[in-house]
Amino acid sequence: MSTRLQVMKFGGTSVGSAECIARAAQIIANTAKEMRCVAVVSAMSGVTNRLIEAAKTAQAGNAAGATAIMESLRTQHETALESLVRNTEESERVRQKMEAVLAHGQRFCGGTALLRELSPRTLDTISSLGERLSAPLVAAAVKELGLESEAVDATELIVTDSYHGGAEPQMDFTRSKSQARLKPLLERGIVPIVTGFLGCSTSGELTTLGRGGSDYSATILGAALDADEVVIWTDVDGVLSADPRLVPEAKTIPGISYREAAELAYFGAKVLHPKTLRPVVDAAIPVWIRNSFEPQKLGTKITPEGENNSAGVKALTAIRDVTLISVGGPGIVGLTDVVGRTFSTTAEERASVLLISQSSSQNDICFCVSSADAQQTVEALRKEFAQDLAHQKVEHITADPKIAIVAVVGQNMVGTPGIAGKTFAAMGKEGVNIIAIAQGSSETNISFVIEEKSVMTALRSLHREFGLDNR
Ligand code: ADP
Ligand code: ASP
Ligand code: MG
Repeated sequence: MSTRLQVMKFGGTSVGSAECIARAAQIIANTAKEMRCVAVVSAMSGVTNRLIEAAKTAQAGNAAGATAIMESLRTQHETALESLVRNTEESERVRQKMEAVLAHGQRFCGGTALLRELSPRTLDTISSLGERLSAPLVAAAVKELGLESEAVDATELIVTDSYHGGAEPQMDFTRSKSQARLKPLLERGIVPIVTGFLGCSTSGELTTLGRGGSDYSATILGAALDADEVVIWTDVDGVLSADPRLVPEAKTIPGISYREAAELAYFGAKVLHPKTLRPVVDAAIPVWIRNSFEPQKLGTKITPEGENNSAGVKALTAIRDVTLISVGGPGIVGLTDVVGRTFSTTAEERASVLLISQSSSQNDICFCVSSADAQQTVEALRKEFAQDLAHQKVEHITADPKIAIVAVVGQNMVGTPGIAGKTFAAMGKEGVNIIAIAQGSSETNISFVIEEKSVMTALRSLHREFGLDNR
């Protein structure tokens, strides 16, 4: 067997039922014949949402409601276990493991209901239970195929800071812990099945990497283990030229660069968590996106350079759950440091700013943040500018949640004239109103703000305009 190492990841739909888990196990077994492999798994689809619902139900004081959700999750996982594992001893072992995970969750929900208080730390503990339930199931399914396999909790591997709900990995610690724990398993021919989404802070608390974070787990482990490649198995054929739910004509892109994929992910292409490519940049590890339902298809290969043969625009994306915040009024002309104060405030709130635009007269700065961060950002800005607002130097701080950002992405847009013109002409033709525009100096991306209701029209017409339908 080759000494190559692949880290693969299965998303929620790829382990969404016993049938899907069996298919994932087969993919793992086939790969394990060729090379060493580590699999990272998400919770079964919908489970993380249900767990968050349980936590919020408990927070509202409804302990029975939270218990009912936990019970339904128990049934779901036990049903999957029954149809996946025939060996009764193994089945009992996994059932007990799942029981322990659910009992742990139940205790945290009970405590939350009692206190009617849900800390980010407790929410992380509860919302990460889905991965801790799915990993033993997948490991058992792999064993059914005659391979050695072991479920491994990522708290033993991925070391993070303590920012609950969106923790950042500490790569040096992660590297030494992952290698110490996983290399001996790999040497003995055991396939580790690792829980996605979660890690452990340096002070020993469980953390999560943010929603959709299992993609990030996979590349963190890929980098930590010096893997030769990372394969992300999902429910579509690869990275497509647009979100297929909004643009049915979207086509699979065979090759794309880190930069392009990161831009797409950052601007809402759900197929990749926005931070997915960060860990693999230094080591230039290729990342594949493939369809676990159609494993014969090659999918998309993401590499440092991508495929340089495509002209201009490669893909489109849109992000909808964003809010446009504007700080302005004629009074801010000449008021020094409004920009600095605005963005140090957003940084303090840890709100990630997706797009910034400033009018030339300097009397309006507008920027977009994720809607989840909008309220606290506006409140913090009102506090920061309280005196200026009182003296009317700053006239308004407003928030508009009914907007969306559309991004046109392609690294060969650099030096291709006319793309912006074509983009905005197409919007004009469709009667789509442009609220703000930004283009990075790297010219990999033109992004603009429109009303949310126009997203589908905008994407479909741009998809046609740039010939992405016919690729
Ligand atoms: P997983 O559960 O495997 O992590 P996700 O649901 O998080 O899968 O991401 C896959 C989904 O991303 C696809 O089903 C698709 O609807 C959506 N998506 C949005 N934009 C794109 C795009 N440009 N290419 C591919 N999929 C996209
Ligand atoms: N299960 C987690 C979520 O739903 C992580 C993931 O699926 O990537 O957000
Ligand atoms: Mg995902």
